[in-house]
Amino acid sequence: MLVVMRTDATTAQVDAVCDAIRALGFTPVPMPGEQRTAVGLIGNDGQVDGAHIGGMGGVAQVINVTKPFKQVSREWKPENTIVTIAPGVAFGGNDIVVMAGPCSVENEQQILTAARAVRAAGATALRGGAYKPRSSPYSFQGLGSKGLELLALARRETGLPIVTEAMDEAGAHEVAEIADMIQIGARNMQNYSLLRTVGKIGKPVLLKRGMSATITDLLLSAEYILAEGNPHVVLCERGLRGFDSSTRNVFDVTAIPVVQRASHLPMVADPSHGTGVRALVTPMARAAVAAGADGILVEVHPTPERALSDGAQSLYPDQFTKLMLELRTIAEAIGRHVAPSPGTASVSVG
Ligand code: PEP
Ligand code: MN
Repeated sequence: MLVVMRTDATTAQVDAVCDAIRALGFTPVPMPGEQRTAVGLIGNDGQVDGAHIGGMGGVAQVINVTKPFKQVSREWKPENTIVTIAPGVAFGGNDIVVMAGPCSVENEQQILTAARAVRAAGATALRGGAYKPRSSPYSFQGLGSKGLELLALARRETGLPIVTEAMDEAGAHEVAEIADMIQIGARNMQNYSLLRTVGKIGKPVLLKRGMSATITDLLLSAEYILAEGNPHVVLCERGLRGFDSSTRNVFDVTAIPVVQRASHLPMVADPSHGTGVRALVTPMARAAVAAGADGILVEVHPTPERALSDGAQSLYPDQFTKLMLELRTIAEAIGRHVAPSPGTASVSVG
């Protein structure tokens, strides 16, 4: 339930509504806005009989939040949430943020070459895994702490903010010290203790949709993070398990506008894991931007044939450069803009 206060409501009237919510056994969450204050009610996942609150002084409207997810819903907050990960790098506005880089950080030369290449092509952020969730325990598991140090070095060299994955609670604290945005991977989307941990840490989170998760599951996972007081969450479509082996996953482009209608959180897409096939990444990246994604995540490797993970879906740097040019044109066509690399003036087409 959400209680919308009148624009002229007094602090005492807002306090009285909070008391009434407490008397019902729930927690009030006052949300002062530019136009008016709203008071959300959390602590329940069903209907609340708050009819009497509608008649209280200063109350404009009582909205029943019908969805199982509350704080992430557009009913709760109609305007887009803007998630800023570094000065001038924000998701959820008109800019489309491009996060690019290798699947894994492999060594200093590889990550610096990749970072310089994606920066030169105009990427907004650098991605790269230091802690890697691999299906097989015998596959390369990432460089761990050393990988985080190399990401920090790449950021110093290029100015690009860093997006990198945390796999467990201890790791989340370590990753948070270096990363500008903590990625929670598809396999951990429903690791609720990890979600609570990154909620408490408070840094921006990139939450990837589980490979068999519904959109409601994804939004409920985001709710865990917001419920701990961290509103800086960006959601990501990365493909679902399907029956057709032509692609690694089934890239659910529809999820982009579906999530954006249901939630105020930014929604990005990852056509690399979404398809698993290099030749399909560019068409699906174009589709994601055309569908309204607030950003994309693309794997780019200086030498994909030698990559220690996900080489088959990694773009060569020149393919990424071409993709960036195309994305700028598509963005302009829908009245948007590809976010400039930090420290550069924005580039306009035409
Ligand atoms: C990744 O981004 O490299 C990754 C492991 O992604 P996902 O969790 O979507 O599989
Ligand atoms: Mn990968």
